[in-house]
Amino acid sequence: MSAGFGLAHLPYAAVTYAGRELIVVRLGDDVIDLAALASASPPPGVDPAVLATPDLGALMAAGPRVWAAARTWLQDVLASGTSTARIPVAEVVTRMPFAVADFVDFYASLEHASNLGRIFRPDAEPLLPNWRHLPVGYHGRAGTVVASGTPVVRPSGQQRPGPDGRPGFGPSRALDIEAELGFVVGTPSEQGRPVGTDAFADHVFGVTLLNDWSARDIQAWEYVPLGPFLGKSFATSISPWITPLAALDAARVPLPGQDPAPLDYLVVQGPAGYAIDLEVDLNGTAVSRPPYAAMYWSPAQMLAHMTVNGASLRTGDLYGSGTISGSEPNRRGSLLELSWGGTEPFALDDGSTRTYLEDGDTVTLRATAPGADGEVLTLGEVTGTIVG
Ligand code: MN
Repeated sequence: MSAGFGLAHLPYAAVTYAGRELIVVRLGDDVIDLAALASASPPPGVDPAVLATPDLGALMAAGPRVWAAARTWLQDVLASGTSTARIPVAEVVTRMPFAVADFVDFYASLEHASNLGRIFRPDAEPLLPNWRHLPVGYHGRAGTVVASGTPVVRPSGQQRPGPDGRPGFGPSRALDIEAELGFVVGTPSEQGRPVGTDAFADHVFGVTLLNDWSARDIQAWEYVPLGPFLGKSFATSISPWITPLAALDAARVPLPGQDPAPLDYLVVQGPAGYAIDLEVDLNGTAVSRPPYAAMYWSPAQMLAHMTVNGASLRTGDLYGSGTISGSEPNRRGSLLELSWGGTEPFALDDGSTRTYLEDGDTVTLRATAPGADGEVLTLGEVTGTIVG
């Protein structure tokens, strides 16, 4: 059985199989057709209609009691070794697991934010004065979030002016990745009512790996002093496999520490971080291993901050952690940092070197986390190849 897909995990996906659109969980080398399993073994506390749909939207909207009931039902039925509703994973094609409502991306790694400050503003304090007081973020483009495997077309755009003062224009020469986790909102909230940090698990359905493709040359010219725009919005890739938040309970760890203490609405109780270890693979070379446990701001704090002004949540909202970077150079989650602003090329196993991505390059993000009962969870990977 494939490691990382045991009963402690059970990630959800939407797939096509024999011309039909199904939602499934993965168990080992198989997927389980949830509608078929519910017909054979009705799930207590779950309306089977939320399982007989082409994507995860209805189950996500059903809320935390239904998520828990579905997980208990699946673990009970599948522990008996039933062969009902099993399909080999190799015979299904994954699709976008849900319709993305709004997409927000944060900037929650102290190491990443500090590195970018050092690269872009070498003579100033690396961190801006607000950074330790709130999780900085921006609203991205939901319509260009794509499932793993979708080719990424190299974006064109304006670039910094040359000596004649006229901006350049053309394909990005500084195409980059950002290794992130994505948090998937299931339960909506009411406009005008902030969601507290203690309601994180009531609203967030699960977690996916996310690659926030970034064109650094376009970004560097367009975004000062406002937020990211066309340097980011051309594509964001997610894994089609959504790991249920409950599966990550065993991975919870305390945050590294927040100084100064955040305002009251950002205070979290208990371990709010996650011990999830990522790997960035570029054309078969593991170029970095970013540690999610090093993140300064937790996903519960990001959710509270995103709604503190009364902005509501919708089913299908997706928010990214921001680039995950650890303190050592081989734990940085972007090529911008790995090549230190494009000045220090790094080597791949095939003998070539890179600063930024070339046409034909394939980037795959992988991750593992501790699960219940000593199991290791393998998060579904997210991959994409650059097309010129
Ligand atoms: Mn990002």
